[in-house]
Amino acid sequence: MRLKARAKGERVIVVDIRREIAEMEAEMISLRRDFHRHPELGLHEVRTSKIIEDYLKELGLEVRRCTDTGVIGILQGSQVGKTIMLRCDIDALPIQEETELPFASEKPGVMHACGHDGHTALHLITAKLLTRHREELKGTVIFLFQTNEEDAGAELMIEAGALENPKPDIVCGFHLWSPIPTGKIGLVPGPIMASSYYFKLTIRGRGGHGGAPHTAINPIDAAGHVLDAIRTLHTLEFDSTKPTVISVCKIHGGTKEIIVPDEVELEGSIRCLHTEDEAVRSRFQECCEAVCAAYRCTCDIEFKCGNTLLDNDEAATKLAMNAAERVVGKENILTHGVSVMLGDDFAEFSRRIPGVYYFVGTASESAKSTFEHHNPHFNIDEASLAVAAQMQAEIVAEYLQ
Ligand SMILES: [Zn+2]
Ligand SMILES: [Zn+2]
Repeated sequence: MRLKARAKGERVIVVDIRREIAEMEAEMISLRRDFHRHPELGLHEVRTSKIIEDYLKELGLEVRRCTDTGVIGILQGSQVGKTIMLRCDIDALPIQEETELPFASEKPGVMHACGHDGHTALHLITAKLLTRHREELKGTVIFLFQTNEEDAGAELMIEAGALENPKPDIVCGFHLWSPIPTGKIGLVPGPIMASSYYFKLTIRGRGGHGGAPHTAINPIDAAGHVLDAIRTLHTLEFDSTKPTVISVCKIHGGTKEIIVPDEVELEGSIRCLHTEDEAVRSRFQECCEAVCAAYRCTCDIEFKCGNTLLDNDEAATKLAMNAAERVVGKENILTHGVSVMLGDDFAEFSRRIPGVYYFVGTASESAKSTFEHHNPHFNIDEASLAVAAQMQAEIVAEYLQ
């Protein structure tokens, strides 16, 4: 695949992105393995961000910190034009690695189990490639290396000015994705990742003796009815064409088999792949309060926003779709069954600036990279790094021509 970019005058420069990325593949893999060996938790990516900063400075980009460990590199093309931001995430997870890879994590209890090691490496290589072609770029490329994706780092970087000086016209994000085979790309316009709100529901009754439950008010009983009510909401009230998930993942109450506890706590998340999430939360709250009241209990609900809806902009999706056709061919672009109820805080950028987010397949039996994300055996297929780097470079080339 060859891309044409028109430089000053009538001279036509032909940039073979695939070939140039292939020439840098060994470096990209070695960067990835180094990041993998030295994972760092969100907000603590000290070593990682220093390597990123030094690498971008060496390329000659304008580099600045945005939060302690978030890094931004700015590449000015030779001509004035639009501004595109490419975002990747750099943090690892509190998981003990069980892969037995020769470059497995050297840090006990910390692991790159989501592929952000690969993201960081390929983002650096994309920066290197595009810097070589500064002359052909009409506009500006911002490389944003985001801290703490696993827990809302995007918002911190935005508060620290990530979307200013310069302000991007478009933002672009991606994830190496183990549910999709290597060589394929998943991309859809509209919602691609769900919004998520975490809740903590505290149900209060009145403690007493387990042998005389009629003299107490048992909040555990009310909790059981709340679980039933949640199932009813799913089946009878929520529009089944608009995916909604309420899942309770933690429940705690009581200290001993003969004591009715005063209170029970339930924690979980509410996820929506549509824009009516506020109505879902409000109905959930109404049901919890009414059910608790029916069983003589009271309740409090605290919500915390995990991620907002990641909703791909139509025009930006078209841009990425064109790039994907050149990189993997039309037959390897998945447009059905791509969206998921998981979230990514890339949504914080793309709800402020038109944006697109896509999945780059990384599953391969031979690379043992079919484990789900956040599993202690998770691994990426390193062949997918080049696919993602090509995608990013192609999107920029098309947008800044
Ligand atoms: Zn993750
Ligand atoms: Zn991730």
